Amino acid sequence: MPIKKIGHRSVDSSGETTYKKTTSTALKGAIQLGITYTVGSLSTKPESDVLMQDFHMVESIFFPSEGSNLTPAHHYNAFRFKTYAPVAFRYFWELFGIRPDDYLYSLCSEPLIELCSSGASGSLFYVSSDDEFIVKTVRHKEAEFLQKLLPGYYLNLSQNPRTLLPKFFGLYCVQTGGKNIRIVVMNNLLPRSVKMHIKYDLKGSTYKRRASQKEREKPLPTFKDLDFLQDIPDGLFLDADVHNALCKTLQRDCLVLQSFKIMDYSLLMSIHNIDHAQREPLSSDTLQVSIDTQRLAPQKALYSTAMEFIQGEARLGDTMEADDHMRGIPAQNSKGERLLLYIGIIDILQSYTFLKKLEHSWKAVVHDGDAVSVHRPGFYAERFQHFMCNAVFKKIPLKPSPSKKFRSGLSFSLHTGSSGNSCITYQPLVSGEHKAQVTTKAEVEPGQR
Ligand code: ATP
Repeated sequence: MPIKKIGHRSVDSSGETTYKKTTSTALKGAIQLGITYTVGSLSTKPESDVLMQDFHMVESIFFPSEGSNLTPAHHYNAFRFKTYAPVAFRYFWELFGIRPDDYLYSLCSEPLIELCSSGASGSLFYVSSDDEFIVKTVRHKEAEFLQKLLPGYYLNLSQNPRTLLPKFFGLYCVQTGGKNIRIVVMNNLLPRSVKMHIKYDLKGSTYKRRASQKEREKPLPTFKDLDFLQDIPDGLFLDADVHNALCKTLQRDCLVLQSFKIMDYSLLMSIHNIDHAQREPLSSDTLQVSIDTQRLAPQKALYSTAMEFIQGEARLGDTMEADDHMRGIPAQNSKGERLLLYIGIIDILQSYTFLKKLEHSWKAVVHDGDAVSVHRPGFYAERFQHFMCNAVFKKIPLKPSPSKKFRSGLSFSLHTGSSGNSCITYQPLVSGEHKAQVTTKAEVEPGQR
């Protein structure tokens, strides 16, 4: 008897998560068996240029419980495993420096870890034990949309591998008990080895953009735009070079999304507060994850860390002397506390469908159209960028004005040496009183604050 149900995701009376009535254990098992098979079978396919037909290819294999001459015996119900566009995805792995063996090792050498703080849509999330990949269940429409999107999307990514856009490394379907469970494999934005102190999902909209009471009760809630404006009204301060690189990347990414008429996406941002962490006892969980990820980590993917998403100059293998393994974007809050930011754009598979248009037309009548979160892709992109680059991320002022009262703290600066090696140094920050001067379109919604 299910005791809790969100979308297709339930928790049964034994406490086990189920998705479309399949237990999480069986789903994880099927995913690992399926990926092991499909990566193995890829090695028999010759390396060649990706052709348009490769995007439409679907490989399908049946896994009876008792095993077959192609598949091993297993303890779950019989299932069919479908791999979409395997040859095209192999090309994307190559683009991001992922060898098929590494992909297999990351996803299949250890059990997948279920994330408890999954989304409100009822998706199920797993992370690979080495922290490289996220596996997410997606709806039929989202999988279909991703298939259509793939050729153009990856044309953009191959021109610009430094991006905050999600990287899709696989699209699969597990057919079991008469149901289709579609999953995507993406890059993981939030390393478990780093203790996160607060997390936001930001859209640049204020309509219903406050975390619910239920969300707030979670160990690491996902807060939203209105919470951000209330908690961090001064925004987060970045070195000018880092701010420029980040905003340039966001601008380029938003243009790509707009060209595909995509909207409703979010910026996922998790913050590690270095100063708080230094005062906290090291949790045994974080320590264990840290040891595990170091022990298990195969070759790291290219452009896989927040700094690499945005920094054109930093090359793979560069060392960040301060916290080599942490690889977040250095920032600070208005108190001068040193932060590391982990960010990326998520939830891009909501296409601008007829339904969304309908949703907009009636909501726009009821509310101020500018603040409604479903809007024309161009407007959505512009508002998103404006909010991120003005209200959320700010530049550490270069030259303090002598007439202002100063606060001092520590700042970061990123130096790229002649060898291309980068290091972070901490310097005293002298900042003017930059209390939320920026008025964003998101701040003006009546009745929300
Ligand atoms: P909702 O309907 O609430 O938007 P959803 O099912 O569409 O939920 P997402 O918004 O994509 O799910 O993500 C929910 C949570 O999962 C995020 O707040 C984040 O904690 C985690 N998450 C999503 N994508 C990633 C990722 N690529 N890396 C790390 N964590 C992620």
